Amino acid sequence: MMYKDTQLFIDGKWQDATDGRTLAVFNPATGQEIGRVAHAGIVDLDRALIAAQKGFEVWRDTPAFERAKIMRRAADLVRERADAIASVLTQENGKPLIEAKGETMAAADIIEWFADEGMRVYGRIVPSRSLAIRQLVVKDPVGPVAAFTPWNFPINQVVRKLSAALACGCSMLIKAPEETPAAPAALIRAFADAGLPEGVIGLVYGNPAEISNYLIPHPIIRKVTFTGSTPVGKQLAALAGQHMKRVTMELGGHAPVIVCEDADIQLAVKTAGTAKFRNAGQVCISPTRFLVHRSAQKEFAEALAAYARGLKVGDGAIEGTQMGPLANSRRLTAMAEFTQDAVKQGARLLAGGERIGDVGNFWQPTVLDDVPLSAKVFNDEPFGPMAAIRAFDKIEEAIDEANRLSLGLAGYAFTRSLKNAHLLSQRVEVGMLWINQPATPSAEVPFGGIKDSGYGSEGGPEAMEAYLSTRVVSITNV
Ligand code: NAD
Repeated sequence: MMYKDTQLFIDGKWQDATDGRTLAVFNPATGQEIGRVAHAGIVDLDRALIAAQKGFEVWRDTPAFERAKIMRRAADLVRERADAIASVLTQENGKPLIEAKGETMAAADIIEWFADEGMRVYGRIVPSRSLAIRQLVVKDPVGPVAAFTPWNFPINQVVRKLSAALACGCSMLIKAPEETPAAPAALIRAFADAGLPEGVIGLVYGNPAEISNYLIPHPIIRKVTFTGSTPVGKQLAALAGQHMKRVTMELGGHAPVIVCEDADIQLAVKTAGTAKFRNAGQVCISPTRFLVHRSAQKEFAEALAAYARGLKVGDGAIEGTQMGPLANSRRLTAMAEFTQDAVKQGARLLAGGERIGDVGNFWQPTVLDDVPLSAKVFNDEPFGPMAAIRAFDKIEEAIDEANRLSLGLAGYAFTRSLKNAHLLSQRVEVGMLWINQPATPSAEVPFGGIKDSGYGSEGGPEAMEAYLSTRVVSITNV
């Protein structure tokens, strides 16, 4: 399948960087360069900022009903083009085609949900203390937004931010991932082809730190939204704080999976196993710390290891592949470090633990048992196809371990007892907890973390609030 070079999208036009700079894009399954992406300089950013301001003024004044129509057309185009978009996504990110297609189709659903939600942005009238006064609470779009998105879900991470912002009447200047540029560009193309006015969306690539350092303090930008690692998120939030910019941060996680004594073990293995190795574990809500009741540890660990060994790993473009390569070679190095450290500290390697071949970034689905708490994999987010298991005796111990880290994004639990389910729902400190089921991060429910996993939400009505300012207008008869 064709893979085209990716340009910048500024003021409604696809264009090269002014100075002609580009970066290489690689296929992680082959290690081959497959194309180039334009590298924006400050001149390009200045033009994109002016366009974002102009786009905002037009879009803010476009009725919500009209905005929704354009957004729905974009969703239709995404669905029509899903096969081509998925192919590009697999080539640059490595995930199996079926996952790439799923991500693309889900994007269309997300756009539609927010298109509808945009028609229900209501203010309110608050009864006043005097008959002569009418008090109005109004909700306005916050203004031009700067968005920074990562390579693990190149479409999903953009579309959640973009759909909510557009539904509220904001314009958005996106710095999408240089490693996976073409899939987000295809998403933006659908909006452009659907008739979005010029300047409402801008798309740039380049040096991430240079772009964020320039955009976040810039007076045109009124809101910052970032998905990525916690250390980078803290830097960007600090910079935004210095300039009093509104912020949404969707950062790393280290999801506990609590498998209780009374759990359906087969359900737990199947559900958590599927979730663990999806996108080769490069998922912020990926289950990572498996805390299993001692009575079920052996059965669970052996079944998960068998599941991992049975997975078909290969080029995501080949039909039947269940797990693709890691998206970049940094993750391969990280997987080797996590494995060696855990084994050195006494963990038992039940499956995987090694690179596959020397072409592309393939890593065996890995399961470690009896992992000590001091192991790196139980402390730093692995962000790869690695499950670390340890036993617990009392549910309170599992809850303490779940809450031990500073991260609090997602959590999973398996139990047949209502008592345990209640306790877990009250005590596990995560932004999203799924009990006896896989993650269902659909557009209509909040998506986001607590503690070091960030703040703000990228789903449900809360996601709209992130792009709205609240003002009061009080009118008195004279
Ligand atoms: P990284 O910390 O270098 O980068 C993470 C993301 O932030 C990338 O998209 C990168 O382009 C961007 N970024 C980095 N510095 C930036 C800056 N100064 N300004 C703006 N954007 C910046 O790490 P990486 O090697 O790309 O990814 C590895 C780690 O990142 C993982 O271990 C994981 O914790 C985290 N991550 C999280 C998510 C998520 O969905 N929350 C997605 C991708 C990566």
